[in-house]
Amino acid sequence: CGIVGYIGPKQAQDVLISGLSKLEYRGYDSAGVAIGDGACLTVRKKAGKLANLSGELTTSPLAGTLGIGHTRWATHGLPNDTNSHPHATEDGRIVIVHNGIIENYLSLKEGLISRGHAFKSETDSEVLAHLIEEAYSGDLYEAVRTALGQVRGAYGIVVTHVDHREIVAARTVSPLVMGVGEGEMFLASDVPALLAYTRDMVFLHDGDMVVMNDDGFRVTDLAGNELQRDIERVEWD
Ligand code: GLU
Repeated sequence: CGIVGYIGPKQAQDVLISGLSKLEYRGYDSAGVAIGDGACLTVRKKAGKLANLSGELTTSPLAGTLGIGHTRWATHGLPNDTNSHPHATEDGRIVIVHNGIIENYLSLKEGLISRGHAFKSETDSEVLAHLIEEAYSGDLYEAVRTALGQVRGAYGIVVTHVDHREIVAARTVSPLVMGVGEGEMFLASDVPALLAYTRDMVFLHDGDMVVMNDDGFRVTDLAGNELQRDIERVEWD
């Protein structure tokens, strides 16, 4: 339902919680974040109000300057802690958040299980983490691109890997907007999540993929062709 991503010098937890709180108007049933500190990615997620999650993060904060966050509106699987996003691979090295619906997730899941993958959640989204893991051989962007070639449906997806200081994202139908800062980059499913941090935004088009690091971004289509996307100054409040 709601997505926020951050890479830069700030503590990611603060940016994610502040951003997700600006998306609460959309309605949701659970919330979660994954924070990277260079050595590991830690997932914290909770059913219910964002306050449940942010309360826990206030008492025991997650340090790290890269992160992805999500508020979920359940379509596949009950609204509980396990089905909340982010979803991680079994080794915890890849984490994803997803908006939308993966229509062919059942057949993808059967295939993944037959190839040895174990699933934790009942969501359609979790197949994305496993497909990316299967396609990964050192290049996260290429792995996400290969994985997305197998899925049908609507998605705004945001991914990170413990070995890479970068965030990879893509959208089909579900919206995503990027915020461009000085030595920092933001991502969200809607503009209000970013207004406190930057007014310089890049509206991703249907079928766009993006790779962001601290210093900038690169946009391609799903076939891997480079695309030009302009930075727009957003004036509204
Ligand atoms: N289909 C996914 C789920 O049920 C994502 C729902 C959403 O967009 O929040 O977990």
